[in-house]
Amino acid sequence: LKHQLIKVEKLKAVEQMGAAISHEIRNPLTAANGFVQLLNDDYLPRHKRREYLSIVKDELNSAERVIQDYLTFAKPSLVKIEELNVKNELKQIINILTPMANQNSVEIITDFSVIGFIKGDRQRFRQCFINILKNALEAMPNGGYLYIETHFSKDYVTIRVRDTGIGMTSEQLARLGEPYYSTKGKNGTGLGMMVVYSIIRAMNGFIRVESEMEIGTTFHIKFPTITTYNKNEI
Ligand code: ADP
Ligand code: MG
Repeated sequence: LKHQLIKVEKLKAVEQMGAAISHEIRNPLTAANGFVQLLNDDYLPRHKRREYLSIVKDELNSAERVIQDYLTFAKPSLVKIEELNVKNELKQIINILTPMANQNSVEIITDFSVIGFIKGDRQRFRQCFINILKNALEAMPNGGYLYIETHFSKDYVTIRVRDTGIGMTSEQLARLGEPYYSTKGKNGTGLGMMVVYSIIRAMNGFIRVESEMEIGTTFHIKFPTITTYNKNEI
């Protein structure tokens, strides 16, 4: 029951999705705005006030999630290609996500025995791994282990992310990266993996995903290694 998937190109025109995404942000903001108007009534019963405030909060959270999953990527004009030390970058990303891991009782186990350098935009690299790691944490609501390892060869730096979470069916795996595909209901955007695939493609990388229900999911991501560092080429 092991499902495997190799995806090179799923979405060609993600960059053109900006308009659609801004819609995804505008809708909840419009809804929140509407309820704020309703709240502007001195005679509103207390329980209604509470209900409307909770709706406003949900709608703002929903807009915030879309921004978190997508927005870094939506600024192609700011792309800056640099030499990235994969180990250092991953450490910083793990620091950002440690509070969330603690909250989910997830232990993060790393093995960065080698140093590898790749070429890419730092913000996008971060967005890519934050999206992957956040999904892994969300797949382990009752705790588990998150393994993050790097391997290094002459040609590629490989990053492996493995969780002991809920896993995916072959159908879910096949739809991974499809815009708005989410199994998380109102807590999901379905944009995170789409952005992941696009960023990896833009960085000339590859991604392979394996998943098994109730066992967990493993992401293998590889990027071309930089062998000779030449400032003019980067
Ligand atoms: P979202 O997280 O907002 O639902 P994503 O694009 O980030 O959207 O992920 C799409 C779907 O892929 C998720 O809803 C989930 O079903 C599945 N998924 C992604 N990563 C994992 C994982 N590590 N374990 C289990 N399911 C996952
Ligand atoms: Mg996600």
